[in-house]
Amino acid sequence: MTFPSTNMAYRCTVSNQTYLKPCAGLKDWLEMAAKRTGDPLLAAVSSMPIVKCKQNAGTDAIGVPLGVCDRCYSRARHRRRGKAGDAAQGAELAARHFTS
Ligand SMILES: [Zn+2]
Repeated sequence: MTFPSTNMAYRCTVSNQTYLKPCAGLKDWLEMAAKRTGDPLLAAVSSMPIVKCKQNAGTDAIGVPLGVCDRCYSRARHRRRGKAGDAAQGAELAARHFTS
């Protein structure tokens, strides 16, 4: 992908959507991409929704960062807590609830 040093995009492992990660440099990159209107890849990437990555899950076979987006993460948290990681998160939330 056409990115500077940092990876600004990731694929959500739940919804299988590709998002831009809000991070330092993203704004500059979007401004740069907006000026290069002839590049279809830049246009496609810069039009991807910007959604926070809540959980990193490594990278796929071609090196695209994987994670769980904010949307799916909140949805899963409200629905059920099956996985070990989610259970830990749930315990932490419960602890916070009881102490506050
Ligand atoms: Zn998602």
